[in-house]
Amino acid sequence: MLAAMPPPSTTPPNQGEPPIGGTPGNVAPSPVVRDRGDACPGALRLHTADDGRLARLRLPGGILTNRQVEALAVAAERYGDGHLGITSRGNAELRGIGDHCGNGLAELLRHTALLPSERHERIRNIVASPLAGLDGHGHGSLHPWLRELDALLCAQDWTTALSGRFLFALDDGRGDVTGLGGDVTLVAQGDGVALVRTGAAAPLRVAAADAPRAALAAARAFLAAADAAGAGAWRVRELPPGHEVDLAAALAHAGIPAEPAPVRPVLRTPPAPAPRPGIAAGPDGTYAVLAAPVLGRVTSTQLRALAGPGGEIRITPWRGFVVPGFDERGARRRLGELGDAGFITEPGSPWSGVGACTGRPGCAKALADVRRDALPGTGGLPAADALPVYWSGCERRCGHPHGDWVDVTATAGGRYTVTARSGTEERQLPYREGELADTIARARGGRR
Ligand code: SF4
Repeated sequence: MLAAMPPPSTTPPNQGEPPIGGTPGNVAPSPVVRDRGDACPGALRLHTADDGRLARLRLPGGILTNRQVEALAVAAERYGDGHLGITSRGNAELRGIGDHCGNGLAELLRHTALLPSERHERIRNIVASPLAGLDGHGHGSLHPWLRELDALLCAQDWTTALSGRFLFALDDGRGDVTGLGGDVTLVAQGDGVALVRTGAAAPLRVAAADAPRAALAAARAFLAAADAAGAGAWRVRELPPGHEVDLAAALAHAGIPAEPAPVRPVLRTPPAPAPRPGIAAGPDGTYAVLAAPVLGRVTSTQLRALAGPGGEIRITPWRGFVVPGFDERGARRRLGELGDAGFITEPGSPWSGVGACTGRPGCAKALADVRRDALPGTGGLPAADALPVYWSGCERRCGHPHGDWVDVTATAGGRYTVTARSGTEERQLPYREGELADTIARARGGRR
C-alpha cells in the first residue's frame, strides 16, 4: 500500500536548487518575514513545470551506490525525460515526469534506499567535501558523519520543521565546502577534534565523535530562534538581529562539551577551490576520476557510464562527479571513456565553469532558452583561470554559483545582462550587438 502522495508544488517556479550561498551578490539579505513554508520540490512533492513534473532527490554528501546509479537511470528513462540534472547542492533532479508517474517513482526510490524517510526527504540537505578520504588531503572520510547525521535527522519528528533549503555542510578540513553558505557547518580538524558553527558565526570546538549530534543540536537551536523571532525564517542568515542562534547553550543543553575556537586558518577565506576534472591519486595507491557533465545534465546512458569499481559515485556541489576505486591505468582509461561519452574531463575544456539554469522551455518564468544560448569558451583565457559563468533565464538566478562569478541573465528585451560578481561587489558590463561572447570572456578574466 503506497503512502498518499502530497499535492504537487506549484509555487514558486523555482526550477533549480535554491541559491546555495545567498543573494546573487552574496550580500546577506535583510531579515525576512515569511507566512508560509517553503515550496521546494522533493521526491514526493513534485513541482509542476512547463515540461512536466519535477522531482528533486536529496543525496546526503552527493553519494550514490552503483545500484542507485542504475535506479536513477531507469527512473529517468521510465518516468522522466531520459536525463538527470545535478544541482549546486550535489542533489539530483528528474524532469518531464508524467502526471501519473509519482507513485511508481517513489516505489523505485524506496526500493533502492533513496527514500529512507518519506517525512524527512526534503530536509536531508547535506553537502560534503567530495574528495574526502580519497586524495590524502583533509582529515579522512566523511562517511561516518554523513551516515550519523542523516540517521539523526530522519529519526526526529521536529526536524521536519526545517525548510527544504536548510543546509548542512561537512568539510574534511580542506576548506572546500566551508564557503558554500551552510546553515550548520562541521569542519574536521584531525586528532579527534571538529569545529561546528551556525551561519557565519564564530565556530565552537567539539570532539569529532560528537560532531553529528552537535549539528543536530545547532539545527534545533535555529528552529527555536526562528520560532522566537516569529519571522518564519528558513535559513540562519534570515534571522533578525537579536535572534541569533545560541550555539553554546544548545550544545550545553545536548550535553556536548564545547569551547571557543579560532576562526582562522581553519575556516578559509576565500574557501579552497573546487576539485577540477581529471584524476586524483590517493595515498593508498587508489585513484579517483573527476568529470563533469556539460551544463549539469547527463543522459541515462552517461549516468550508467559513471558506475565504478569503488561501488559508489559522488556528486559534487559544483555539478561534477567523483568516481573512486581505480588503479592508475583504470582511472586513465575511464577518464578517456567519459571524455568520449561527452563529459568534461580536463580543466581546459571550453565548457569548464559554464553553467545554466533550466530556462525555456521547461520554466514558465524564463525569458530565454539559456541552455541553447550558453556559450563555451573563455576568449583565449586558460579555463583554469577563468571565473565561472552562469546563464539565468530570469532574475531568480536559480542554482547560481557562490563566490566570484559572472552572471549572464536574460532580460525582457531579448538581451542578456553581463555582471561580474565578487563578494558584495557587482559590476555590470555594457556591450554592443555582437559583443556578448567577448564581453563574457572579458568578465571571466576578472580572477587574474
Ligand atoms: S528561468 Fe531559470 S532562474 Fe528563472 S525561475 Fe526559471 S530556472 Fe529559475
